[in-house]
Amino acid sequence: MERPLRLFLLADVILPLPLADTYTYRLPETMRGKVEAGSRLIVPFGSKKIYSAIVLRAYEGPYDDEKQLKDAIDLLDDAPVLLPSQLWLWQWIADYYLCTLGEVYKAALPSGLKLESESVVVYNPDYDDDNPLTKSEQHVLDLMERLRKQKVLDLQKVVEVKNVLPVVKNLLEKGALTMHEELRQNYRPRTVNCVRLTEDYFSQDRLNELFDQLKRAQRQADLLVRYLDLSKAAAALTLDNRSLLVEIEKQTLMEGQSEAAFRALKERGVLEVYEKEVSRIGQMDNWTNGQLSRDNGALSEAQKCAFDEIQTSFLKHDTCLLHGVTSSGKTEIYIRLIQEQIAQGRQVLYMLPEIVLTAQLVERLRRVFGSRLGVYHSKYPDAERVEVWKRQLSSQPYDIIVGVRSSIFLPFQNLGLVIIDEEHETSFKQQDPAPRYHARNVALVMAHHMGAKTLLGTATPSLESYYNAQSGKYGLVTLSERFGQVQLPLIRVVDIRQQRHRKEMKGAFTTPLLQAMRDALDHRQQIILFQNRRGYAPQVECQTCGWTPRCTHCDVSLTQHHGSRQMVCHYCGATYPIPQRCPQCEGYELLPVGYGTERIEEDLQKYFPQARVARMDLDTTRSRTAYERLLADFERGQIDILVGTQMVTKGLDFDRVSVVGILNADALLNQPDFRSYERAFQLMSQVAGRAGRRRQQGLVIMQTRSPELPLISQVVANDYPAFYLSQVEERQAFRYPPFSRLVYVHLRHRDHPTVARLAADMATLLRQQFGTRVLGPDTPAVSRVAQLWRRQLILKIETTASMADARRRLRQIRARLLSQPQYRSAQLFFDVDPM
Ligand SMILES: [Zn+2]
Ligand SMILES: [Zn+2]
Repeated sequence: MERPLRLFLLADVILPLPLADTYTYRLPETMRGKVEAGSRLIVPFGSKKIYSAIVLRAYEGPYDDEKQLKDAIDLLDDAPVLLPSQLWLWQWIADYYLCTLGEVYKAALPSGLKLESESVVVYNPDYDDDNPLTKSEQHVLDLMERLRKQKVLDLQKVVEVKNVLPVVKNLLEKGALTMHEELRQNYRPRTVNCVRLTEDYFSQDRLNELFDQLKRAQRQADLLVRYLDLSKAAAALTLDNRSLLVEIEKQTLMEGQSEAAFRALKERGVLEVYEKEVSRIGQMDNWTNGQLSRDNGALSEAQKCAFDEIQTSFLKHDTCLLHGVTSSGKTEIYIRLIQEQIAQGRQVLYMLPEIVLTAQLVERLRRVFGSRLGVYHSKYPDAERVEVWKRQLSSQPYDIIVGVRSSIFLPFQNLGLVIIDEEHETSFKQQDPAPRYHARNVALVMAHHMGAKTLLGTATPSLESYYNAQSGKYGLVTLSERFGQVQLPLIRVVDIRQQRHRKEMKGAFTTPLLQAMRDALDHRQQIILFQNRRGYAPQVECQTCGWTPRCTHCDVSLTQHHGSRQMVCHYCGATYPIPQRCPQCEGYELLPVGYGTERIEEDLQKYFPQARVARMDLDTTRSRTAYERLLADFERGQIDILVGTQMVTKGLDFDRVSVVGILNADALLNQPDFRSYERAFQLMSQVAGRAGRRRQQGLVIMQTRSPELPLISQVVANDYPAFYLSQVEERQAFRYPPFSRLVYVHLRHRDHPTVARLAADMATLLRQQFGTRVLGPDTPAVSRVAQLWRRQLILKIETTASMADARRRLRQIRARLLSQPQYRSAQLFFDVDPM
């Protein structure tokens, strides 16, 4: 006779680890009915480690190996922290990008929501809350006061509480502890004291009565009048008719008022004071509750046309590409579209590359959308990201989120529209670590799943998007006129070879560029110079024997940095002293080769000693504030010449820039990548677009060794269609996207022979399954990085083939190879739709 089936209360969970599978835990009876998909559950894993896992599903069912079944320890939340649509998206990403759900989990949640035993928590000495703590909370806090900083795992060992994670979570939420990642700010709702009229005085009659009583208390009457004035003004802003209900920050109310009068009104029961949670995010952007303009400036004829065309296109298509030249005023169109969505009660996600999401833009959006706007930026403190996340789950979520790549992971309850500005930007693709997702493509999938529309906006569309628009998959709207009818800049190509021949070069500068800069400076105008290399010189060379210093961990030469007085490896970050003598021939003549932004900056000071020069690259903008400060200084005219890497090609819209110099166009063209021409076209067009604003046509000087290239004339003529046609032909001929799908296979190992063997084995297995679709193995241009040797294979799959089937085979091959002992410590990963 068969044993009766025993049923358990079970949950399949995702752990924040790169594990291929979900894990099943038994739920204690106390959790019956409380655990839902998307809840965080504390579970043990491995030896003594605990994690907050995400529940994928909770159910009652049999389990075949009862002895192996571990119990969940605790439930962290009353309500799930993920919506079903998000869990669906996580699964889609893990499947499509050939990674694990654990990797998606790690990327998706802000660290404040990812509590685990490896998390480090820090005591907050400023914590002073009157709310009582539970006994275990007090115990842990007392301990932490002594320990100051501790791994949750280690805390568990010394604490007398059975399970410390939920206690730590509560203390984090109260602000008594903070996560180590975020020492700057702890997650604790910021509060301000607010004042409002008590309900007793809501009627005009009662107020008149009160004013009669206050005839002899002038200061109380003054204060009350001030309160009423302020609340009327505030009511007008928030469109709240019940003006008397409006709250006023006490600090604002009390300007020039008497504290005694305030106390008196409070005692009379006229005014009440209470604490209100405020978002830190508005605070950070210095947003004053100022002018909340309901109606932004009128659209031009061209903008209105584009706006209508987009609306029409959405009747037929889920996705529309807005191809608008630089400075054509796309943002105004976005604002109109967002207003439409909000009017219909739907939410909008407005996604931009990190570098374009500036305080300038946020401020502008805030003027229109006020507190309906949430900002999600990877450089904001984690606490703020947690705050936005929680708000999105609440009954009053933000109507519009403006954010970077990672904002696609936020919860949306009623998404109507996704706007992806600068859709061609490669930074929408996450390169490392997994998930190696492309936020634009994920957004398209998410929008489709939620019944929302997507608008892609750019002056230089990606080839894929333009192809989709041409073939009718997307709608296409073109805006070819700059806002205010400003002309596109004049681009002048200067042949470096000729200049060299005539000995008219000064360092990296040709005579025409120097001349144009001098003219601009004479007219008190600004200049942007684009050089896509940071540091002082990309290489140093011995004049006698040709020796150059190289990284000991990587197969690359080192970049000289003047600022930090070091040689730096741009691949692994290792630093070395600048060599004084050649170790090979003992020669002293070690000279810099080539020009980085630092060297350009130095030379500029020689050629234009009067000019104020600033540099914008990774080294000068480590913090968000440094970047914003440079932008602000430039805007205020405190910088005459701004030299920088591709950071200067976007986000800068300033009126006084009359000259843009592209110092070395060839550096962009000679990249070993099928996208190098596309990228070069985009970068050059974008940086050229910075020149020439309202009053005059701008001038772009493009220095190149290959002026005869068709691409150069396409940039000069701003002829995107011609560029597109020439590129699309090549892509078709060589079966590159959009005419195939690419998967890169990356292999890495410390040991050189092992990686070579692994590559050969991989190639064999791939060819068995995919035949001639496999290219490689190849050794990348940089064959070793951070001690790991690299190999790469490319898989080109026709667009008509089943990708699901291809992915299944790739997973099998990976599992098969990694199960072999000799490859255990190898890294093997796929990059789907690489950029
Ligand atoms: Zn030498
Ligand atoms: Zn290195």
